[in-house]
Amino acid sequence: MSAENHRGDGDEWQDAAYRALETLRATLALAPEVRDDAYAQLLLPAEVLATNAVSVAVIQADGRVLFANPGACQLLGLRFGTDPARPPSGSQEPADAEPPPAEILAFRWVATTGVPLFEVRSEILCAEGRRRILSVNAVPVAGDDQRPPRVALAMTDLTDQYAYYEQALRDSQERLKLATEAAGLGVWEYDLVAGRYHWDERMLEIYGLTEDQAPVTYEDWLERVLPEYYTRVSHIDSDQPQLGERREVEFRIRRPDGTVRHIRAVWQCIEDQEGRPTRLVGTNEDVTEQRELQHELEYRAAHDPLTDLFNRAKIQQLLRTAQASFQRHGTPFALLLFDVDHFKRVNDRYGHGAGDAVLWQMARRVESVLRDTDHLGRWGGEEFLILASHTDEAGAHALAERIRNRVKQEAFEGIGTITVSFGVAAIEPGLTLEQLEQRADLAMYAAKHAGRDQSMRFSEVDPANADSDPASGIHSSGPGRPT
Ligand code: GH3
Ligand code: MG
Ligand code: MG
Repeated sequence: MSAENHRGDGDEWQDAAYRALETLRATLALAPEVRDDAYAQLLLPAEVLATNAVSVAVIQADGRVLFANPGACQLLGLRFGTDPARPPSGSQEPADAEPPPAEILAFRWVATTGVPLFEVRSEILCAEGRRRILSVNAVPVAGDDQRPPRVALAMTDLTDQYAYYEQALRDSQERLKLATEAAGLGVWEYDLVAGRYHWDERMLEIYGLTEDQAPVTYEDWLERVLPEYYTRVSHIDSDQPQLGERREVEFRIRRPDGTVRHIRAVWQCIEDQEGRPTRLVGTNEDVTEQRELQHELEYRAAHDPLTDLFNRAKIQQLLRTAQASFQRHGTPFALLLFDVDHFKRVNDRYGHGAGDAVLWQMARRVESVLRDTDHLGRWGGEEFLILASHTDEAGAHALAERIRNRVKQEAFEGIGTITVSFGVAAIEPGLTLEQLEQRADLAMYAAKHAGRDQSMRFSEVDPANADSDPASGIHSSGPGRPT
């Protein structure tokens, strides 16, 4: 641009140039050594503009490009002049310029509205057909009588950054997919606004559903859950976890083929920028095998493998609970200890396997007489213990008699009638569990001593016959401590 080209006279142009210099001086941050150097003040910004480190352009409201520096020319694929080989150098006469992409021309409206736009993401297709993503700042420059309004554009090329983040996102999605696949996790999303689910393939696999059976609403999903878990899962769509908080629930589902699976669900809530919950995102894991194994282990830890009754450890745990309840609330309980009479003969005559079968049948027969509040366990060998809750010694004795009669009522298959001997003792204040067990043991010993096939209460035991302190359970004579 030269003074001769300008339509105003020389003085007017000079005034305008000085005003522009004053504006520059007022708006630029200047080092002390250039503060009074008008040449440096003009030259330095011009040198910056002449690089492609910044991309700036000025367009008129009619779309005409007034100015584009090398950075903008490169970014927008603009070429000035007739010689395409001539590299752009600094700001240029735009007379022969190729028009910038339509997306950039769209910013000319900023000139007429006077409203600046900042960091607007704009996608352009440059000459080589490459897609470029720009961030554009468009600031209106007021016009006057001679000049129409213009808009100054500053552009930043975000293409590489976007490519980087898109690749990073693809990578992390791939990693997440690999991780969820390796862990056998199904991934689900629930759009809280639309009330709709999105399930991945693994979710459908876990639920045994085809794509067209995929649940859409919360109610659709609930149909797959076993009704006894409804209360446990009912809060999922209404009571959302706080940001970052993780919720977890286990429930069982029924697949269309009727099989029941145990599911562990974990989820989090995703919020929008205003902090409103928008989505729930989570996983489902089929934990059926783990839960079955866990259940089996828990069962085995508490049960005797031969009779399937509680084992001694479990019965002792129940006794401690009953003892605590007696101490706290005075809830009575009694012990019924019984031992199979002449069981050695069964083994000797029919073999150990037949003896085992008798013990199993014995357990079933005794169980059939008990209330839910009574606990039966195998105390050891052919000896069993019943913990009868809410029962005093007389009640326990009556129960023992019922069981004794039930046992001998029918012959054991291939063996004949078998009898049992009972010792009964009830809890009393100040009595330890060990002493209570010894009392039941002593009473049973007395029943054996008195001829077997009978129930003896501890309170009936003749201390003279017992040979020792009833609480100690130690005997020195008689038929010997039954085992
Ligand atoms: P008593 O009337 O005095 O109780 O006579 P008994 O023969 O029952 O008593 P003893 O203590 O002499 O014998 C108990 C037998 O129970 C000995 C043991 O081999 C047998 N026994 C213990 N546990 C088992 C078991 O799990 N299976 C089988 N088949 N036999 C068992
Ligand atoms: Mg016996
Ligand atoms: Mg015994």
